Amino acid sequence: MKTYTVEDLTITLDKEGAEQYIKISYPIRYGIFSEIKTPDYTFQFNLNGEIKTIQGRGEGWLDASEWLKRTVGNDWAYFSAGGYTGAHDFIGEYYVPCLSYDTNAVLFSDRFNGPDVKDAFNAWHRLRDRLARLDLSALEPELAGFLGRVSETGPDHLEKRAREFHDIIGGEVSVLPPDARHVEYDVIPVIVADGCLYNCGFCRVKSGNRFTLRPTENIIDQIQALNAFYGQDLINYNSIFMGQHDALFAGKEILEFAARHAYEGLAIDQSKMKAPRLFLFGSVDSILAADEDLFDMLNRLPFYTYINLGLESADADTFKAIEKPLTPKKVKKAFDRMMAVNHSYSDIEVTANFIYGADLPETHLPSIIDLTRNHLDHFHSKGTIYVSPLENIGSKEKMRHEFTEFKKLCRLPCYIYLIQRL
Ligand code: SF4
Repeated sequence: MKTYTVEDLTITLDKEGAEQYIKISYPIRYGIFSEIKTPDYTFQFNLNGEIKTIQGRGEGWLDASEWLKRTVGNDWAYFSAGGYTGAHDFIGEYYVPCLSYDTNAVLFSDRFNGPDVKDAFNAWHRLRDRLARLDLSALEPELAGFLGRVSETGPDHLEKRAREFHDIIGGEVSVLPPDARHVEYDVIPVIVADGCLYNCGFCRVKSGNRFTLRPTENIIDQIQALNAFYGQDLINYNSIFMGQHDALFAGKEILEFAARHAYEGLAIDQSKMKAPRLFLFGSVDSILAADEDLFDMLNRLPFYTYINLGLESADADTFKAIEKPLTPKKVKKAFDRMMAVNHSYSDIEVTANFIYGADLPETHLPSIIDLTRNHLDHFHSKGTIYVSPLENIGSKEKMRHEFTEFKKLCRLPCYIYLIQRL
């Protein structure tokens, strides 16, 4: 790490943050990054010189406890403290990542239309303009190189990089599993299959395509191209999202092939971040089709694996209303399988989603309570339940109240699902 002073800027190259993702009630940064402090803001950059976070240094908005963070897909998230206790009770984290697109207005208001966020972005643009006017030839080459990259890497370049990223994996990741919160959504996606099994009527994130496996050559190509794309910053990643909507249905061979190639090809063992994680989605049919060999294989991988199942409900009228071809009996079987896998495998956690919406039948919520409370004889710490808000949740206060009541009854950890794309 080296620190320089240029006019009123304090510049630190290769600053080291935490090496393990932790849940803590003050802001923390991970991995290695570079930083420019102005009197009013702290700007942090990844090892490719691309803006990563912006945090205010003064009183009030974007003060010491909240910040903006940019994703590889070039979305900005506002990490809000949201009243520490409230945030932690609702989403299991001390900070709520509020996205600049309209999916997660359930708990916190839209921060992006306020003047403070606009001021922060303007301050970043002013910094880049200022660096472009600096005489870099008088500076140490390493510092000059970094400042040159920062001044050149503006919104157009970052948009282009996001398009390149999406071209590599064959499109956007419309939604990440909720468990990706454990690594602050810092995952590298490797797509093993597109589409899904059900193409449900209610779903806002589906592609509409039927489930199709990617050829192994395509998986290898993605990994090689992603290695080059992340470049210097690869060292800051230790987690993989295996996409898209039902990677579990890809089966043991493809999952093992992709996970082991990703581990090697993306140099996960050399990552600055410890404790690698693998995230994927599953479905009722894919977990019922998965045998012990598949879970044995996942348990032996050099990752801790999270599998997130879209169960949605345990009520026949609700399945009819949301046009999902499932039955309560099948969901109960999948739920039992989830609990059995969580009990048997030390390095796998299967979690499940249930929907919440104002227009759902009255039998919906009782059906979930029956499954996650009456069906279990004690509290289990593995098998988190995520409540996923639909477009129409009705009154926010009612939803918060019903969620809190459900959380009290549920015999599994329970949080709200925040939709994050990549
Ligand atoms: S809920 Fe899951 S299975 Fe249904 S359409 Fe959406 S992605 Fe596909």
